[in-house]
Amino acid sequence: SAVAEAVKPVTPMMAQYLEIKKDHPTALLFYRMGDFYELFFEDAVKAAEALDITLTKRGKHLGEDIPMCGVPVHSADAYLERLIRLSFKVAICEQTEDPAEAKKRGGKSVVRREVVRLVTPGTLTEDTLLDARRHNYLAALSRLGASDTLSLAWADISTGDFRVTSIAPGELGAELARLEAGELLLPDPLFTDPALAETLRQTRAALTPLDPSLFDSTRAERRLKELLEVSALDGFGHFSRGELSAAGALIDYLELTQVGKMPRLKAPRPARSGAFLAMDAATRANLELTRTLSGEARGSLLSVIDRTVTGAGARLLAERLKAPLTDPAAIIARLDAVSWFLEARELRSRLRAELKSVPDMARALSRVTSGRGGPRDLAAARDGLAGAHKIAALLASASQTLPEEIARERAALEGRAAALQDRLTAALSPDLPLLARDGGFIAKGFSAPLDECRMLRDESRRVIAGLQSKYAEETGISALKIKHNNVLGYYIEVSPRHADPLMTGVHKDAYIHRQTLANAVRFTTVELSDIASRITEAAGRAIALEMELFAELSEAVKGEAAAISQAAEALARLDVAAGLADLAEERRYTRPRIDDSLAFDVTGGRHPVVEAALEKAGEGPFVPNDADLSGDKGEARRLWLLTGPNMAGKSTFLRQNALIAILAQMGSYVPAAAAHIGVVDRLFSRVGAADDLARGRSTFMVEMVETAAILNQAGPRSLVILDEIGRGTATFDGLSIAWAAVEHLHEENRCRALFATHYHELTALAEKLPFLANATMKVKEWQGDVVFLHEVGPGAADRSYGIQVAKLAGLPPAVIARANDVLHVLESGAETRGAGRIVDDLPLFSAAPRPADSRGAKKSALEEAFEAVNPDELSPKEALDLLYELKARK
Ligand code: ADP
Repeated sequence: SAVAEAVKPVTPMMAQYLEIKKDHPTALLFYRMGDFYELFFEDAVKAAEALDITLTKRGKHLGEDIPMCGVPVHSADAYLERLIRLSFKVAICEQTEDPAEAKKRGGKSVVRREVVRLVTPGTLTEDTLLDARRHNYLAALSRLGASDTLSLAWADISTGDFRVTSIAPGELGAELARLEAGELLLPDPLFTDPALAETLRQTRAALTPLDPSLFDSTRAERRLKELLEVSALDGFGHFSRGELSAAGALIDYLELTQVGKMPRLKAPRPARSGAFLAMDAATRANLELTRTLSGEARGSLLSVIDRTVTGAGARLLAERLKAPLTDPAAIIARLDAVSWFLEARELRSRLRAELKSVPDMARALSRVTSGRGGPRDLAAARDGLAGAHKIAALLASASQTLPEEIARERAALEGRAAALQDRLTAALSPDLPLLARDGGFIAKGFSAPLDECRMLRDESRRVIAGLQSKYAEETGISALKIKHNNVLGYYIEVSPRHADPLMTGVHKDAYIHRQTLANAVRFTTVELSDIASRITEAAGRAIALEMELFAELSEAVKGEAAAISQAAEALARLDVAAGLADLAEERRYTRPRIDDSLAFDVTGGRHPVVEAALEKAGEGPFVPNDADLSGDKGEARRLWLLTGPNMAGKSTFLRQNALIAILAQMGSYVPAAAAHIGVVDRLFSRVGAADDLARGRSTFMVEMVETAAILNQAGPRSLVILDEIGRGTATFDGLSIAWAAVEHLHEENRCRALFATHYHELTALAEKLPFLANATMKVKEWQGDVVFLHEVGPGAADRSYGIQVAKLAGLPPAVIARANDVLHVLESGAETRGAGRIVDDLPLFSAAPRPADSRGAKKSALEEAFEAVNPDELSPKEALDLLYELKARK
C-alpha cells in the first residue's frame, strides 16, 4: 500500500544519492552507475527535457515514483556540451572505489562515490566542449562596501590568462559586452541589485550568484598569494581591494569546481582602463564586430579579416578586435609586424604552413596542469615546441632585419624548453591512446624496466601460442584452441564431442575443467595458468610503470609551463600578424598613419564586409569614398551631415569609417587608399536599431536611450556615428530632436562625427555651425527611376526618392502611382493648408481621377499622357498600341 511504501526506508543507494545531491543543489548531478550517468528527481525532469531523452522511473521515494534518466558514459561529452550551452551546471559523481571493496564491507554497502568535478560554462578545458577559435572566460564581479566602483576579474582557465580591472557602474555593460564571458560570478547582493538588473540581463554569460563571504578581500589576498606562491603581491602590480575580492572569489570557485585539481593560472594583470578604445554594448552589436545582429559569426567583421591558421591565433585576433588600443606607439609596433610580413612574402607563407601543424599548446598545457591531460596533450607540447623551434630558425634565416615586435617573438621561441622537447620525443610512441590508463604510449627503448615487462608479457604470449600446438598433439584433438576473455583469462577450448578424453580419459589429471557451454567445453592447466598469471602480472606492471612515467613527464611539462605558454603566445602573435599581412595583400588594404592628433582623414575608404560580400556575389565594384573629419585643421569640418535617399549607401559609409578606426587601432591595415587617424578613445554608434520587444521598448525608445548615452558621454577624442535619429516618431518631433542633437554634438561634445539624416531641413544648419559640413549620396534619375551611384559628394540631397525606392522594392504599381499623386498634392503647399484640406484634395484611392488642374495641383503622369493625345490623328493600330503603353505605365 501507499502507506507502507511511504514509510519504507530509503535504499542505501538513494541515501547516498541524496547526501551527495544536498551539496550540489544548483547543479544537475550525474550519478555514475556502471556504464551510465543517471539523473534523478527534478534533475532528471530538467535534463530529459533539455536533452530530449526518455524520462523513466526507478523505485519509489516517500511513496512517489522517482523520475530518472541517464546518458551513457562513453557519449557523455556530447550531452554535457548541450547542457553547458543551455547554461546548466553539472556535478560529475564517480565511483571512487572498486565495487569489490564495497562487497567486502558487507551486504548493504554501496560503492563509495564522490563528486570529482563541477562542469560549468566558465570552467571548461576539454577541446570537445570548447570552441577552438574563441576564448571562454570565467569572470567575477564585486563591489566593496559603500564604494561605487565595480571590480572585475576574468580568466580563461583553458589558457591560464588572468586579468583584473575596476570600472564605474556605467561601464559594466560595455565591459561585459567586450568580454563575452561564459559565466559570471557575483555576490548575492549584486545579483539582486536592481541598478544592475538590466545590464546583467543583457549579458550572454551564465550568472552564478555566490555567498558574499567568498568575496572577502582579506581572504582573497591570502588566496592569491597562495596561488602565486609569494608573500607579497607588489611585484605583480597594484590591485585595489575590490580587484582582490573579485580575483579571490574566482580562485575559490575554481577550487570548488575543479575539486582540488587547480588549473594553471598566470599572475593576474591589471587591465589599465583607457588603454583600449571604449565601445558600449550597443555600438559593438551595431557594428557586428564578432557576430552579426542575428547572432551569427558569418558576416561579421571578424569573419572577413580572420586569416589565422591556429586556434590560439584566432582567439588573439578576436581579442584584439574587441579591444583596439589607444596608445599610438603600441599600435605602430603591431603595424610594423604586419608591414614586415607583407614584405617578407615567401617567409610568411612558409611560416603559415608551419603554423598550421602546430597544436594548441596552451590548452594542452592547462589540461596537463589540472590533472586532466592525456598522452596526446604531452604530444601537443612536444609538437608545439618543435614547431616553435622551427619557426624561430625560419625567422633567424630572414634576410630582412626583424622589427622589434618580431625579434621579441623569436626570442620567446628559440630553444625554449628544448630538453623537454627532446625528452618527450624520445618518450612517446607514434600512436597515442586518448587516456593514459590505456597504456602503450611510451616508446620502446625509453625505459628499460618497462621494456622488460613488455618483453616478458609478449614472450609469454608467444609461449602460449606454442602451447596450443603442443596440447593439440598431446591429446590428438586438432581443433583444440587456446583463447582469452576477460572473465576466464586464458583457457583451452574444445567442442563437446572432444571433451570426454579430457574430462575422464588419460588427460583428466592435467586438464582442469572450467566451464561447459552448449557448443564448447573449457579447461585450463597448471602450466597455462602459471604463464597466464605471469602475463597478467607483467601487463599490470607495464601499465603501472607507464602511469609513473606519465606522471613524471606531466611534471616535466608543468616545470616548463612558463616557457611553453610564452612560446604559445608568441606563435599566436605571429599567426595574427602574418594573417593580417595576408589579408592586406589580398584585399588591397593600406597601412594607416596613426598618431595622437585629432585627424580623421580617410581617402578612398571601403566597407570591409560589404566589399567582400559584393565581390563574392560577383557584383560591385564597391565605390570608395573619402571622409575628412579632422578636428584640428584650420578649415576643419569635424561634423558631417549626410543626406541621401534610402538605399543610397548612407549607413554603409557611416559604418565603414567606424570600422576603419577600429581596424587601424587594433593594428591592422585598413580598406582605404590612405588613412590618417588620430587615436579615438571612445567610439559610439547608433545605427538602425531593431525593436527590442523582449525588453518592452519600442524602436524609438531604444534609439533615444542610445542617443542619450552619446550626447552625455562623447568627448573631443570620440568618434560618433549616428544614423537617422528621430525616425521613429512624428515628423516634427523627430526633426526637432535631430536638430538639437546636431547642435549639441557641434557645440558641446565637439567630437568627430558622421550624422546621417533624411531631414533635409537640417542642412540649413551648415550656415550657422562653422564645423559642420553637408555631404550627400549622389544619385541619378533616369527615365523616372533612381540610380544609386554610392558616391559621397559635397552638398545636400534635394529629394528623398522614397517612391522610386519603394518601386524598386516591388510595391504594386497602383500604389506607386497613387503615392505619386499624394506627393504632388503635398508638395504643392500642404504646409499652408493643413491635413484636412489634403484629404479634400485627394479623392479616395479607388475613386475616379479628379479633373486635372482644377486647384493648381500637379498632373499625374497618366493625365499628362492623356492630354497629349489627339484621337483624330491616330490610326486604329496606333490607338491600340497607345492603350497598351498607358496600361503598362499605370
Ligand atoms: P542607406 O543607409 O542609405 O539606406 P545602405 O548603406 O544600407 O543605404 O546601402 C544599401 C546597399 O547599397 C548596400 O547593401 C550595398 O549593397 C550598397 N552599397 C552601399 N554603399 C556602397 C558602395 N560604396 N559601393 C557599392 N555598393 C554600395
